[in-house]
Amino acid sequence: MFRKAVNRLLNRARVVLASKRSVKFNHNIFCRRMACTDSVYKDIGEFRVFAWSISGIETSVVIKKPADGFSCCFDMGYSNRQTVSCDDVLISHGHMDHIAAVPQHIKKRELQGLRPASYYVPEHLIQPLTEACSQFYIMSENTPHLKTPQIYAVKPDEKIKLRRSYHAVAFPTVHRVKSQGYMVYHTKRTLKSEFMELPPKEIGAMVQKGVNVHDRISIPEIAYTGDTTFEVFTNSPYTTPADLLKVKLLIVEATYMNDDCDYDERVSQARQWGHIHLSEIYENAELFKDVENILLIHMSDKYSVKYIEEKVYENIPESLQNKIHISTLAKDRYI
Ligand SMILES: [Zn+2]
Ligand SMILES: [Zn+2]
Repeated sequence: MFRKAVNRLLNRARVVLASKRSVKFNHNIFCRRMACTDSVYKDIGEFRVFAWSISGIETSVVIKKPADGFSCCFDMGYSNRQTVSCDDVLISHGHMDHIAAVPQHIKKRELQGLRPASYYVPEHLIQPLTEACSQFYIMSENTPHLKTPQIYAVKPDEKIKLRRSYHAVAFPTVHRVKSQGYMVYHTKRTLKSEFMELPPKEIGAMVQKGVNVHDRISIPEIAYTGDTTFEVFTNSPYTTPADLLKVKLLIVEATYMNDDCDYDERVSQARQWGHIHLSEIYENAELFKDVENILLIHMSDKYSVKYIEEKVYENIPESLQNKIHISTLAKDRYI
């Protein structure tokens, strides 16, 4: 009842704001403080994001780009209607909060008559994950897709073909177990620079004659770190991929955000557990100058939504003010 009433009020406020042409409605800013509940998706730039994530509990992040019909899912710690609709699932590491829902995902898709999804995992997880699915097949006896799951090993720097002119590339991350993140690229055709000044009719004639007038360029659009220490951004122990800090949307974990000790202690505590402290992102804000938007996920279960909002928005460096987003959806709804 209370949630419905809040939704009604939020929707009314949105309509009023949107109708006033002098007031430019900014969905992100509005929803940050108002805990937007009209949709489980967040609109961030060109993307719609379903980010369900609590450290140690469950993480699954669905990304959609409505403009060209692209979608994929990062990690499979939680299987619901949003994640079940994803054909491609890119898994960062073997901790249960990131992988345990794969058998359920397979079963639910089969139940809905969807073709089997593809699961991309770090190489060492192929055998145990296939075995886990096989054990569920034995127990359930009625889910053929569990018998032959489509699980593919991906090494760092390997290219994964995704839907619609998109591909992903894995990169190593720094966690307590072997882990990797993913960058997603969109390949586009652009007119070669030497033909830019020509009228369209002339270009059309050249195409008819078989002249190749286009270049193909790959744009780094999304990066997902999974669980990692901040070292993933600082060339140690692995080289930071150049495109990681140029993406339109960086989805990064910020497991810890406590301020009850000094910076060095916060960092060392976070690294001890293979995670990032929010202060590391804020202290190194200049690293993210070319990233359009940053979505923070995987906050510790010990923090309330209010605490997270306070720590994130009250200490935010000026250069990050318009690009930091948080997803507290799971914190709100996990019961
Ligand atoms: Zn985790
Ligand atoms: Zn982990």
